[in-house]
This record gives sequence, C-alpha cells and structure tokens, in this order.
Amino acid sequence: MPAVSNVLVVGAGLAGCATAISLAEQGVAVDLVEISPDVAAVGSGITLQGNALRELRRLGVWEQVQQNGFGFDSLGLRAPDPAGTLLVEMPDVRTGGPDLPASLGLPRPRLAAILHERASAAGAKIRFGTTCAALAQDPGGVDVTFADGSTGRYDLVVGADGIRSWTRRMLGIILETRAVGMGIWRAFGPRPASVTRTDLYYGGPSYIAGYCPTGENSLYAYIVEPAQDRSTLSPPEQLATMRELSQAYHGPWDDIRATLVDADRVNYTWFETHVLPAPWNRGRVVLIGDAAHSCPPTLAQGGAQALEDAAVLTELLLAGESLDQPLWDAFTERRFARAQTVVEASNQLSQWLIEHERGDVPALIGRITALVSRPA
Ligand SMILES: Cc1cc2nc3c(=O)[nH]c(=O)nc-3n(C[C@H](O)[C@H](O)[C@H](O)COP(=O)(O)OP(=O)(O)OC[C@H]3O[C@@H](n4cnc5c(N)ncnc54)[C@H](O)[C@@H]3O)c2cc1C
Repeated sequence: MPAVSNVLVVGAGLAGCATAISLAEQGVAVDLVEISPDVAAVGSGITLQGNALRELRRLGVWEQVQQNGFGFDSLGLRAPDPAGTLLVEMPDVRTGGPDLPASLGLPRPRLAAILHERASAAGAKIRFGTTCAALAQDPGGVDVTFADGSTGRYDLVVGADGIRSWTRRMLGIILETRAVGMGIWRAFGPRPASVTRTDLYYGGPSYIAGYCPTGENSLYAYIVEPAQDRSTLSPPEQLATMRELSQAYHGPWDDIRATLVDADRVNYTWFETHVLPAPWNRGRVVLIGDAAHSCPPTLAQGGAQALEDAAVLTELLLAGESLDQPLWDAFTERRFARAQTVVEASNQLSQWLIEHERGDVPALIGRITALVSRPA
C-alpha cells in the first residue's frame, strides 16, 4: 500500500505532471489543477538535458519527446566577430545514460501537451482554468476549497505551482526570490539548416547569444543582457530591440535574424533565483520544482531538477507505508543538496558573466555534469 491514496497536485508544469503520472499509474487517485485555461497554447522552447530525458523516459513519454524534439550531443562556442567564428565544438556528456542524447530541444507547448495526455491516460483528473482558494490541514488530511467553490479532502497536497507558488504563500512561507541581474530575449521561429545544436556566443554587447534547435522546422534563439525595465516596449519595439541586439552575432545568427519578423514570438524576462531551506513540506503539504528552488537557465537544469523532485517524491510515497517523518527526511536527504548545488552553480555562471570574471567554467560544468549523471 502506498503512503497516500489520494493526492492533489497544484500546477500542471513539469513537476506537477510528473508527480501525477507516477502516482496515478500506481492506482493513487490524483486531482491535478492548473490555473491556466490552456498552458499548451503559448511558449518558447526548452533545452532538456540528459538527466531530464532519463526522467521523461521513466514516465513513458520518451518516444513522443524524441519524435517532437531535436536531440544533439555537442555544444559549440562561437566568437562575437563578423564571421561568427566557431571557436570550439565540445562533445557533451550524456548525463541521462549512453542511450539518450546529451541534450534535446523541444517546443514548450508540445512538451506540455505530451505530459498532459500521459497524465490523463494514467488516470489523473486534470482541471484546467482552476485553482485553489484555501487549504486547511489536520493530522489526518488536507481540506481544500477550490476557486469555483467545490471542495476536496486529500492525504497529500503537492505544490508544483512554479516560482511564485500560491501553495508556498498559503503555507505562510516567506521566501525571497532574487533577480540575478540578467534579462533574456527569446524568439521562437523556423530552424535554418545551419543550426543543428546549441551554439553559445559569449561577449559582444550582450552577455550571451545562443540558440537551440527544437525540431526539424523550429528553434528558439536567445540573447541575455543586463536586466532592465523593458515593460514599456510594444511587441514591435520588442522585436526591433532583439533584432538590434542580434546585429553583433553572425554565422548561423545571420540566418536566424533573417527569420526574426514575428513580434508575437518574441518575449523578455528576467532571471530569478531562490532556494527554500529544507524541509520542503509543512505537514501534509509539500513544495517541489520551481516552487522550492529556481535557477537562471545557464546550465538548463531547472526542468531536470523539477522532474527529479517528482521522481524521488513519488518513489518514496509509493514505497512507504505512511506519510511520516522518515519519508520526509529521506526526501530532504535525496533532493535538497543536489538541487541547491545546481542552483548555486547556475548563479555562479551568471555572476562570472556579470562581473566579467574568468571563472573556471569547465571545472564547474564538469562537477555538475558528474553530479546529475548519477540517478537522483
Ligand atoms: C527564461 C527561462 C528559460 C528557461 N530555460 C530552461 C531550459 O532551457 N531548460 C530547463 O530545464 N529549464 C529552463 N528554465 C527553467 C524551467 O522553465 C523551470 O525550472 C521549470 O519549468 C520548472 O517546472 P515546474 O513544474 O516546477 O514549474 P512551472 O513550469 O512554472 O509550472 C508551474 C505550473 O503551475 C501553474 N500554476 C501557477 N500557479 C498556480 C495556481 N495558483 N494554481 C494552479 N496552477 C498554478 C502554472 O500555470 C504552471 O503551469 C528556464 C526558465 C526561464 C525563466
């Protein structure tokens, strides 16, 4: 018997869907509520590292992820010079194991749709456009009131509702989410033939310019700049700004710039970070994914860490007899230090760029690669 028989998951992102799939598959009754009416409607691309792919394979969606994405096994470094000179092409470590690519790009809406379909097929009941209005727990369960006035009682509530987690606030947890000092322009568009892996251009007028193929016909491209208030720009002005910043980058970026014409596919956001000190649960409510820890995407590990939280939590819930302190201690033991290490390394990379410091990037990446190559 699992430690829980019915669970509410708040948030149908990576962490929430992964939790719902693993529990529902094993007969636990799962309600999954997602505040957005249709999360699969908009979005850019995502780079999934091998350790994220390992979790997606365990969830039974690897075939679809592979068919809808673009896998690759190396990383290019290019100069911000008039030729976009390729400085080095480095083989990337297959952190998910030898039979999965080192990295894979995927359109975010496709990934969301794949995970939602899988969660439904596993038996989870998903309600879109719904959220919670109140939580009250006692030693035997958690009473939840939903925004539409309906109610439910659960053995466990999993707050997988992202960086600004409602569940975290309901628990009365005060956690400072800090701006890292960088803002990112992202554009989703067609993939030119010259883009077959991620290349990063360090330096020039911005910190980083890069891209990631997300399918035969798609990619997302990005430029990371000092964080500034871009909120007053209209969509056409945003497009013009990203195009202007991209003028310093050449090689495949020349091909990308030629397709950078749709203002609706451009967005700007700041990098932010936090780590919730352990434990991540308060009684029968637990926070996972970005709700508990969030990092700038300098190592593209946020998605992987969210999936790993879900994998470890559900493994313990399914193996345990009861929702007791040893279970929470085991969760902390397996997740806290690993997620914190990844966040700190991601922040360190940002800091070196902001301060124009020559840190030992290969050593840092080697350390994180070794860490995440080990199963969570
Ligand atoms: C600019 C940028 C680029 C990134 N690029 C990458 C990358 O390339 N690779 C990578 O691995 N990571 C990347 N990340 C990080 C990654 O997006 C996150 O770490 C990951 O999405 C976390 O998953 P999650 O399920 O915890 O949260 P989320 O993906 O944020 O999902 C939370 C879900 O909860 C829902 N929700 C919120 N509030 C409520 C509520 N009150 N009730 C119900 N539902 C609610 C939201 O609508 C959302 O669907 C990037 C982050 C940023 C900011």
